[in-house]
Amino acid sequence: MRQAKHRFFLAFMTVSLPLAGALLWAQGAGRGGSSSSASGLELSAINRSVDPCTDFYQFACSAWTASNPIPADRSRWGRFDELQERNNDILRRVLDQAALGREPETKKIGDYYASCMDEPAIEKKGAAPLETEFKRIAGLTSLDGLPELLGTLHGIGVGSFFDFGAEPDFKDAKMVIATLDQGGLGLPDRDYYFREDVKSVETRSQYVDHVAKMSALTMPVRGLVEKARFDDATSAADAAAVMRVETALAKGALDAVSRRDPVKVYHKMTTAELQKLTPHFNWARYFRAAGAPAFQSINVAEPDFITAFDQLLGSTSLDDIRTYLRWHLVHASAVILSSAFVNENFQFYSATLQGTKELRARWRRCVQYTDSDLGEALGKAFVKEAFGADAKADTLSMVKEIEASLEQDIDSLSWMTDATKKQALVKLHAVENKIGYPDRWRDYSALKIVRGDALGNSERANAFEFKRQMGKIGKPLDKSEWDMTPPTVNAYYEPLQNNINFPAGILQPPFYSAKADAAVNYGGAGAVIGHELTHGFDDEGRQFDAKGNLNDWWTPEDGKAYDERSSCLVNQYGSFTAIDDVKVNGKLTLGENTADNGGVRLALMAYLASSAAKAAKELDGFTPEQRVFMGFAQIWCENRRPEYERLQAQTNPHSPGRYRVNGVVSNMPEFQKAFSCKADAPMVRQNACRVW
Ligand SMILES: [Zn+2]
Repeated sequence: MRQAKHRFFLAFMTVSLPLAGALLWAQGAGRGGSSSSASGLELSAINRSVDPCTDFYQFACSAWTASNPIPADRSRWGRFDELQERNNDILRRVLDQAALGREPETKKIGDYYASCMDEPAIEKKGAAPLETEFKRIAGLTSLDGLPELLGTLHGIGVGSFFDFGAEPDFKDAKMVIATLDQGGLGLPDRDYYFREDVKSVETRSQYVDHVAKMSALTMPVRGLVEKARFDDATSAADAAAVMRVETALAKGALDAVSRRDPVKVYHKMTTAELQKLTPHFNWARYFRAAGAPAFQSINVAEPDFITAFDQLLGSTSLDDIRTYLRWHLVHASAVILSSAFVNENFQFYSATLQGTKELRARWRRCVQYTDSDLGEALGKAFVKEAFGADAKADTLSMVKEIEASLEQDIDSLSWMTDATKKQALVKLHAVENKIGYPDRWRDYSALKIVRGDALGNSERANAFEFKRQMGKIGKPLDKSEWDMTPPTVNAYYEPLQNNINFPAGILQPPFYSAKADAAVNYGGAGAVIGHELTHGFDDEGRQFDAKGNLNDWWTPEDGKAYDERSSCLVNQYGSFTAIDDVKVNGKLTLGENTADNGGVRLALMAYLASSAAKAAKELDGFTPEQRVFMGFAQIWCENRRPEYERLQAQTNPHSPGRYRVNGVVSNMPEFQKAFSCKADAPMVRQNACRVW
């Protein structure tokens, strides 16, 4: 259940965090999904005492935020969480049925879910399921054995020291090559190891406490393996060692803003060149242990990080290395071990870092893990229940209309020369789209699921996925694969494939409903489609061409004009306060903000050009244009805990919902006109930004 998302995966929102056991999941009863209004807008969410021209988000959402407090087991609660909750209810029904074991087709997901739900069995085992890997780690008696050990640990999903996987070659995207990247940190981002403000210093000390507590929980099994006795001092020393190792790794790691630049994370070299970087680590043996096929060249995303890794090996005791590996094994396994591990993991990653008050109910967690590990087997059953041919056809026609709007938009740009426009259209016309679910479902027959072995199932699922990734190296790219499971409430653009992807999970109310007014569907699902399409042309996406290759198709003057327009957005969003003294990071969120701004404009253009708009009248007290903006704004109604707000501002490329709404509409003369805002109204920016 520990899937690493690759770097340039541009999602509509962040629904998961790089934190074990801290994934967001729904809670509460959910609210039915269908609005009682004629348009499909949530009229009860609106606060009419607020002037839409003063604060559009507050107008569209603040009655909702007032009546929808964050459930105790959540760090955030928004309207898309309500939707995910409804999808989860379907998944739970499917899994409860499958767990009875009557249907051969759903036996695997049923066994997986039933094993995860069997709390008494998991409780009884305690830390014992760690024994095999603890023995393996204890068997590391010289640095010479590290390549084999890491190959094995990575193979079962234990992140440590670096990430190894498969990825399209940036400069020849039709082929998949091996890739090495930074990894092996327990805090959310490399900057967490170095920030000196009071809050950050406190977080580090809480992290060290957490590592010590986890270490203490493993002492019984470790004592057995190492035939020794341990005490609190051992745990404290363990935590200090982990912090030393991770800080050294973090020093060599790139920051999140730099990692958005594809040029900074593409360093293709031969395996011989890679070997020269690390006198202390033998790559050929590691690749063999990891089960990789033979290959000659590899993308070493961050050579400086690999050098730092080698220096660390040269200057760190074997004791510290074993301690670090034990920690990452426990960290990666915690959520599926006994309650002592689950609770301690929750305490740091959910309570401390995100402000969540309570652990999520077991079934919610088990639904989530089944989705992570057997997503396409579970998704197949979900699609049967929740996604019809009509929704697919409707979405497809909306995609076509929005693509036509972008074509028109590109044609009309005053700042772009004809040469670049021509190339932009070539790229646009090459965008492929995938809607709902895969044409061909993943075959899990090689994955063994054993009833009663929850951790083993998780490790075997990770091994299955790792092997699948290894199998791609050296082969042509398969664009039909999905990076999200069908029930997911999200969407993405993949620059290395130049395609947009919309899981069935998001093509539901409030994003889309066959019964809703077209204007509201364009404001919801239409804005998501426009957002993903615009990603192909944001500051990152624009560096890739129609075939997904990192290849500059811009004239220098157009590139410069683009950067000037982009920097307007950097300044605008960088001026928004996330929480207390923490601002939104304008550079980190630039791609998403560009996509949000472009997305709404394209959705509005497409709506106005549609047949539905021709005959549209006022509905629920709103004009058709107003309903497009309202449909968009109401996706983002949400409440966030302060701790979550801080974490997101420091790690998430997406802005908070309120700025995703107000940041966009305040840049749009179309909004000003639709709501008859005065020229000096707060929702009318004097220096409106516009890229697309
Ligand atoms: Zn996005």
